[in-house]
Amino acid sequence: MLRGLIIGRFQPFHKGHLFVIKKVIEEVDELIIGIGSAQFSHSFENPFTAGERILMIAKSLKYENITKQYYIIPIPDINNNSLWVSHVKSLVPPFDVVFSNNPLVRRLFKEAGYKIKSVPLYNRKIYSGKEIRKRIVNDEEWKDLVPKGTYEVIMEIDGINRLKDIIKKDY
Ligand code: NAD
Repeated sequence: MLRGLIIGRFQPFHKGHLFVIKKVIEEVDELIIGIGSAQFSHSFENPFTAGERILMIAKSLKYENITKQYYIIPIPDINNNSLWVSHVKSLVPPFDVVFSNNPLVRRLFKEAGYKIKSVPLYNRKIYSGKEIRKRIVNDEEWKDLVPKGTYEVIMEIDGINRLKDIIKKDY
């Protein structure tokens, strides 16, 4: 039984993330999808709650008819990088391999003795959470950059207006 872990902020969950998950889930028997920075929401960097991000991922993977076992688990940040891997381990099922391109994530798991694998890149310039958030607030085209499940959740929670409101100033 090979169980893999992938961690992202998924703000929001986009087609690059979906591409990566569809690839890496083929390499393992089970996949743990950790939602990083889980305690944050309602800021431009982290507009969506952990629960909303769970919905985006679960709905998007359901539309893809993914049949393999996966677990979606929120992981709040902690203010101590050297303890972070232990913190992650305390929250998720046991895992054998970690998939990430994030240099800090890779470094921390490597130092903890884990096997790390890179994930294939999928037009990172466009399929990026920051780019999508920027397009949403500027009324630019963004719908095609996210899976249908994410689009539905953003509409359900009035996410476009949330992003526009949270960047406003009160003067
Ligand atoms: P992310 O959502 O930006 O990316 C998730 C993964 O998908 C990454 O491996 C990224 O490289 C990959 N990806 C993104 N777009 C892609 C594309 N177009 N094509 C292919 N791959 C793509 O999330 P992240 O920033 O990597 O998340 C790391 C999380 O770990 C954050 O929440 C961070 O706060 C947390 N963290 C916390 C601590 C701590 O609490 N001390 C320490 C380290 C990391």
